Amino acid sequence: MPLARFFFVTALILVLAECRKPPGEPDLVLRADTVAGGQSLSGSDSSGCASADSVPPEDSIPRDTMPEDTLQEVPADPLPGARCARLELRGSLYGSLAEALPGEDTDVLGAHAVRCMWWNLDPWRGLSAGDSLVILFGAGDMGLENRTIALRYTPVAGSSNRAFSVYMFRKTGDSFPSYFYQDGTEAVKLLDVMPLTTFEEVTGIYGEPRGDHTHAGIDFKAPEGTPVRTAHGGVVARTDWNTEYNGHCVEIRMGAGYSEIFLHLRDIAPVVSPGASVPAGTTIGTVGNTGRSYSAHLHYQINDECDRPIDPCLFFGTHRRSLGASDMPAFQEFVTLCDSLMLARGSEP
Ligand SMILES: [Zn+2]
Repeated sequence: MPLARFFFVTALILVLAECRKPPGEPDLVLRADTVAGGQSLSGSDSSGCASADSVPPEDSIPRDTMPEDTLQEVPADPLPGARCARLELRGSLYGSLAEALPGEDTDVLGAHAVRCMWWNLDPWRGLSAGDSLVILFGAGDMGLENRTIALRYTPVAGSSNRAFSVYMFRKTGDSFPSYFYQDGTEAVKLLDVMPLTTFEEVTGIYGEPRGDHTHAGIDFKAPEGTPVRTAHGGVVARTDWNTEYNGHCVEIRMGAGYSEIFLHLRDIAPVVSPGASVPAGTTIGTVGNTGRSYSAHLHYQINDECDRPIDPCLFFGTHRRSLGASDMPAFQEFVTLCDSLMLARGSEP
């Protein structure tokens, strides 16, 4: 078995094993003391979160021609079932994907691709016609259907965006894979103070366009039952309002009119009752799938003194982790493998 395949298969087995791990078992700790500083790989990106200040139409890129590339089956060895799509953007990312991969579930594929990209650029408003994407993605028999294994973005000539590539990899000590740049820096940015000790994926960011509104917080996909804690702490203002949408929910007044809000909880801790003081780090409940929610996740939101949502990334600050030296040989092997498969599709190095 080639070395690269061995690493991938090993990683995949670990991924699948971890994904089946019941939530009651010990979870990873996202250790802020082991992370690299907030290095940005994008020239214009400082926060990693989109802003809702201005929201141009999602399909602001002219959709004039059909992309010429579609889909290529990558040979079964060494990533069995993986497929590679290359597309040049002509409309929105989702529209271009749908045109490039007719008959495929491109909504899901696009959602996963977007989650790899939004740390670097605004995938709804910051792309240009002529930008290109190469997406290496998994199939059902890998347990990674429509999941991005690796992604390369190349901006059109003259764009202020910068090219980048990300690769799925599970950092030693983590329960779930994440995405890392070629140098081992994680693409995902963590809040400097996190409301969860573990999560699988950030599935929503502040300012994300969602039909007739923009997303007001950050969504952390996590196993049901994962403990949720106050990031700032304060005094409990209310619980369980508008439960049809919010499910079990908690609002905590932080002071100066600011509050932190937790939605879709499975349960709320007994110490959390209106008027109770809950210092930073207090477990206030667990991740659930209550209210208008389609899978277990925490919606975490910060409101300002006017009760308007603000970007938690700006409120708390963010940082990126890096892979440790012991992870780098396997990671670099995996990068080489993914690059070879994506280059085979004719992308830029
Ligand atoms: Zn949300």
